[in-house]
Amino acid sequence: MSKLVRCITTDGLVMAAAIDSTDIVKKMQELHRTTPVITAALGRLLTGASIMGNKLKEDNASLTLRMNGGGPAGSLIAVSDSKGNVRGYAQEAGLLLMPNAKGQLDIAGAIGKEGTVTVMKDYGYGQPYCSQIPIVTGEVAEDLTAYYAISEQVPTIFCLGVHFDKLWKMDKAGGLLIQLMPAADHREIEKLEEMLKTMPPVTQMLLEGSTPEQILERTLPGFELEIFDSQEVEYRCDCSLERVERAFMTMRPEEIRGLADESGKAEVLCHFCNKKYYITQERLNELAEIQEKRQQK
Ligand SMILES: [Zn+2]
Repeated sequence: MSKLVRCITTDGLVMAAAIDSTDIVKKMQELHRTTPVITAALGRLLTGASIMGNKLKEDNASLTLRMNGGGPAGSLIAVSDSKGNVRGYAQEAGLLLMPNAKGQLDIAGAIGKEGTVTVMKDYGYGQPYCSQIPIVTGEVAEDLTAYYAISEQVPTIFCLGVHFDKLWKMDKAGGLLIQLMPAADHREIEKLEEMLKTMPPVTQMLLEGSTPEQILERTLPGFELEIFDSQEVEYRCDCSLERVERAFMTMRPEEIRGLADESGKAEVLCHFCNKKYYITQERLNELAEIQEKRQQK
């Protein structure tokens, strides 16, 4: 299980969250057989989605992050529930790409910089809230920071990292979010700027054995912290036959009947967990009839 911890400073001026998302990214890599550059790109997006989803208060709420940067990775999607359990996929999970000029995984090159980040919050009732901003760097953390600055006007520090060992095996993944509350002023900003100069990357702190609680203490040394939420989170897909059938109900009856292939069944693949669902022609006919009756009403 991955672990996510949230805290607020006792003066109420700074909110922060830290996650060790290693198990989430491992599970994603197993399911989608991602190459290192996609493991890093999608791993960062899933880590960010988990932290952002965990901030939603409603039990049935969910948060979707979609990056469309026009790069060879195609679209990247991460979905979180309101606890921080996540699922996601990249269109091109097997993408191989040369390292960038610094000799690092070219995440920005894979995602691309000509496009948008979409943040959708579904509160489980009413219209979902949707916000779209231009991609800034394609490195994910900066793009999500820009979302908070532009769409929510909250000063934010967002760090997301996926670390690999010398043999390109993913060994740690994590993230850190720090946000200033409206009453904070230049003193808090100066303290945080000072801290940022010496802060090691989140994955390095994890490699040194720090827990998410300890990462929060290390990054906010001049503040007194009150930990108010500690949550075990995981890669979790909540697909089901019922959900697959419900998705058909956006189609016309003749389309539903025509879904079956030569074998007399329709095969539906869940992109989030690669589970396959088979629906017989008989069941498709039933669903088409239900749809016809609905349309007559
Ligand atoms: Zn699934």
